[in-house]
Amino acid sequence: MAMIQCISPVDGSVYAERAALSFDAAKDVVARARKAQKAWAKRPLEERVQLVLKGAARLNEMSDVVVPELAWQMGRPIKYGGEYKGFNERSNYVASIAADALAPVVIEESDRFERRIEREAHGVVFVVAPWNYPYMTAINTIAPALMAGNTVVLKHASQTLLVGERLVQAFIEAGVPEDVFQNVFLDHQTTSALIAAGSFNFVNFTGSVEGGRSMERAAAGTFTGLGLELGGKDPGYVMEDADLEAAVDTLMDGATYNSGQCCCGIERIYVHESLYDAFVEKSVAWVSNYKLGNPLDPETSLGPMANKRFAKVVREQIADAVSKGAKALVDPKLFPQDDGGAYLAPQVLVDVDHSMAFMREETFGPAVGIMKVKSDEEALALMNDSQYGLTASLWTKDAERAARLGREIETGTVFMNRADYLDPALCWTGVKETGRGGSLSIIGFQNLTRPKSFHLKKVTA
Ligand code: NAP
Repeated sequence: MAMIQCISPVDGSVYAERAALSFDAAKDVVARARKAQKAWAKRPLEERVQLVLKGAARLNEMSDVVVPELAWQMGRPIKYGGEYKGFNERSNYVASIAADALAPVVIEESDRFERRIEREAHGVVFVVAPWNYPYMTAINTIAPALMAGNTVVLKHASQTLLVGERLVQAFIEAGVPEDVFQNVFLDHQTTSALIAAGSFNFVNFTGSVEGGRSMERAAAGTFTGLGLELGGKDPGYVMEDADLEAAVDTLMDGATYNSGQCCCGIERIYVHESLYDAFVEKSVAWVSNYKLGNPLDPETSLGPMANKRFAKVVREQIADAVSKGAKALVDPKLFPQDDGGAYLAPQVLVDVDHSMAFMREETFGPAVGIMKVKSDEEALALMNDSQYGLTASLWTKDAERAARLGREIETGTVFMNRADYLDPALCWTGVKETGRGGSLSIIGFQNLTRPKSFHLKKVTA
């Protein structure tokens, strides 16, 4: 029997392992989900919404277990208390808009006609989730999908093997029927085979571009709806009128929090020449304050990367950039805990340019490159010089200028004076290789349902 393992970044031990389901066993899970769906969808919306909220509340009660378990699985320091803030914010927000988002669009209600567009659940929704924010990314789809009347099958990342089990445990204990929300352990081949067999009505995949491509290939010809939330190389642009302290604080946090393993983390920063020297100096000082170490130590503010193979990519990108002329400004002596493996010191690189993989490919680590620019045009061209397009973070006091530039930027979200945040009232979406579709907001509900038109003529004459 093939086993799926979670190797802990804390000490390299096997923290958890589970048997992968065979194709036939996985088909049984999907069949149960399909059987349960009609009855679930017939329950009143408010009942489904309340059950999902109870599930989320139950997970909050489990924080004593969930928070250290998360540290063991992917290295996030316990100091940050897990993902409850964003998890609760998203669950509560989608609950608050569910009735409006799913309300029929009424065109006519007269003696002669009823004409309206209703929203109908897709059926069985498959959620394939990543390890970097394992609870928050998963709940983005699970909560609205269940509220809208779908049943959900969740396949979580091997690195965060226990997260799916915890989520399902919380929801079932809160009263969600067992077959309505199920967790599965699957290898890639079985995942793709299930999709290729047309098992699901909608698949939401959050992860790498390569993974997204595999989902598209698996779904080809099945007409299965796909939501793909993939990688990023998000830029920050600091204009000459920016609040320097705030820009340093937010952009450096955005670049390094969670060891830089955020889909919308800041990976490259362009600074107007008038602020460049001060920005660089303050940024290096900012990251030098981190305490790298064991994530179970309450003093640790920067944990190991989730896996030493992810740290290897970051080290290689940095070494390549330095070999091409970049300068690394953070003194390694400040971080003796850097072990050449999963524990990786933060880094700030200057003298970088777009010929370097470090400025083009997703780094997904606590390292950021800073470049000097002279104008909006130059910054815009550099920001758009990327195969990715998730978010961009603009720093200025001029909202009109930010909006004007924002319309030229090829990303799904444009921020002004903030970064690395997912607002559940807005649509989370990307362009180019960052994927397609959109989650959260009213648009997320629309993507997790299909329209059904009712055209009822009440008189025959
Ligand atoms: P990943 O390696 O693509 O894995 C994501 C999930 O997909 C995991 O459950 C993984 O399973 C599964 N998977 C990957 N390739 C597969 C395949 N060929 N067939 C079937 N299943 C497959 O990504 P990750 O390393 O977990 O996450 C980091 C990436 O996610 C980054 O690129 C990040 O930018 C992106 N991300 C994007 C967003 C967004 O909103 N745009 C949000 C968060 C993360 P295993 O773990 O078992 O391999």
